[in-house]
Amino acid sequence: MTSSTPALAYDNPLDSLLAGYACGVLSAPLHTLVASHLAISPKNRSFVANLEAANGIALTEAEAEPIRGRDERLAAIFASDDEHIVAPQRPAPSSILPTPLSRYLGCGLDDVPWRMLLPGVKEFRVEGDMRAGATLYWIRAGRKMPAHTHEGAEVTLVLKGAFSDVAGRYERGDIAIGDDDLDHCPTADRSEDCICFAVTDAPLRLTGPVGRIIQRLLG
Ligand code: ZN
Repeated sequence: MTSSTPALAYDNPLDSLLAGYACGVLSAPLHTLVASHLAISPKNRSFVANLEAANGIALTEAEAEPIRGRDERLAAIFASDDEHIVAPQRPAPSSILPTPLSRYLGCGLDDVPWRMLLPGVKEFRVEGDMRAGATLYWIRAGRKMPAHTHEGAEVTLVLKGAFSDVAGRYERGDIAIGDDDLDHCPTADRSEDCICFAVTDAPLRLTGPVGRIIQRLLG
């Protein structure tokens, strides 16, 4: 994606993003975006689950030495309490903000401190980390975002309604990925307000030991 060429290069940038999620190398906003996508949409769950399983096998194979006292540590974990057993959580279908996103924001949709960007478009800029910035947008039905380009990557998850731009149309649960070649003007469907979560300038670099392991598995 853009100048930060990922060490793991898929033809499809979405697959690269999902692979980054599966091996845990994404920034917090991007990790939240992908977790939210998986919570809303079943489309890529099996792909990510397979990558996660492959990653687990690779990490096990890569262990140069056995972890000392592993059995004792595991026994202690399971003996302590049930907190460590986390059941997969799926939001209710009617929930606009999936659980990973509302956890990240620290609030529900009703409590988001919106700021008007222009008539018909509200935003809430979430404090990003060192690698990425994140913004929640609310675009009124039929409204357009100002046309813009990006200096880096922009990854957008649709949470409600749908929007269209030169690259296509995206509905709830879809992820749109734009890079610095994209000059676009996202427009909400006329029938419904559109709410999106967008993460910008987040280089995806699968380098280092984990990236190499994944690349070997998939190469
Ligand atoms: Zn954009």
